[in-house]
Amino acid sequence: MNGTELIRGPNKATVLNLVRQAQSISRTQIARQTGLSRSAVSTIVAELLEAGWIVECGSGKSSGGRRPILLAHRPQAGYVLGLDVGASHLSALVTDLDAHVLAEVRRAFDVSRGPGVGLPAIASIGEDVLAQGDVDRQQLLAVGIAVPGPLDYQRGTVIAPPIMPGWDGFPIRSHLEVRFGVPVYLDNDANLGALGELRYGAGRGLQNLAFIKVATGIGCGIVIDGRIYHGQTGAAGEIGHVVVDPDGPPCTCGGFGCLEAMAGGPAIAARAGLAIQAGQSTILRTGQANGNLSARDVAEAARRGDPLSRQLFADAGRLIGLAAADVINLLNPGRLIIGGGVSQAGDLILETLRETVDRRTVRAAIENVDVVQSELGVRSTALGAVALALQETFKSSAVDFGF
Ligand SMILES: [Zn+2]
Repeated sequence: MNGTELIRGPNKATVLNLVRQAQSISRTQIARQTGLSRSAVSTIVAELLEAGWIVECGSGKSSGGRRPILLAHRPQAGYVLGLDVGASHLSALVTDLDAHVLAEVRRAFDVSRGPGVGLPAIASIGEDVLAQGDVDRQQLLAVGIAVPGPLDYQRGTVIAPPIMPGWDGFPIRSHLEVRFGVPVYLDNDANLGALGELRYGAGRGLQNLAFIKVATGIGCGIVIDGRIYHGQTGAAGEIGHVVVDPDGPPCTCGGFGCLEAMAGGPAIAARAGLAIQAGQSTILRTGQANGNLSARDVAEAARRGDPLSRQLFADAGRLIGLAAADVINLLNPGRLIIGGGVSQAGDLILETLRETVDRRTVRAAIENVDVVQSELGVRSTALGAVALALQETFKSSAVDFGF
């Protein structure tokens, strides 16, 4: 690569990003907005057209002379893979550069079996969704992956994740980079859920929001001034381990009465099991009491009107509301979004959650915040992984655009 190309590389990325952000834009506007010369813009645009990153898309309004030709980015110029590794599920989707989903796969998974079993399963669901989407591997630009635990960003590993025994320090990112042959970007599931909702869901247009993911674990993704807040070491938002009852049951983290141990999916199922054993009347079957019961079964029974199941979700909503009120008092977000598998129970959990938040927050913080269910549903995190992959790919001027 000669000197001219070294200089032009970052400029190409700048021009491509400008075209990506605009619906359509002319060469003159690009020159004006980047400060590049008209001739430099012409050369870069010609190369981007040639390589298929952008297309000409009609002509704009004339400001005296010839009508300018407008340029737009080509969403099919590349594809990204989004992976969501949950405690008990895997989901993968492949999208174009506008985050339109081409194919999606979801599978049951057990993250507690460790990387020896887990990593091949993660790679394999990625390969399967790429095949289903009929994506040319040459056009795969990057992979985004969400994992259910706090992270070490520099190394691309998770740090002592309570629900991921065996994964502590395991180099997830470098493993997958070798497997897929493209850059891999990693973040935790709640952060990427927040990013997904911020870009494509209930958080669009906001600068400050909190996303509480309620699934097997409970975590909070925090967006401050339009960016994910990671904290000093990447462990910000671990509200699953906020104590809501000091005399409560033991938690995977070694503590007692953590929110996650009392209101996460397995906790809801365990409480249902105990109630059945104690002889409480319910439409949940007695046979389900011995570990075969899931939060989904309880949600289903609740939807059919089962008083015990409804009570369990209402209780979980109240407990999550306690932690959510602290999040609101602390961060003053513009919106609080509730996502994750358990939140699919909707009003069963949201009603008491909202009531608790209303009672426990200071007026200055609560006045302009609404508490809503995630718009992207079970896709929040995987689409957040896509958003991360796209953001990092186009941010990096060192990316190989195939020029
Ligand atoms: Zn805990």
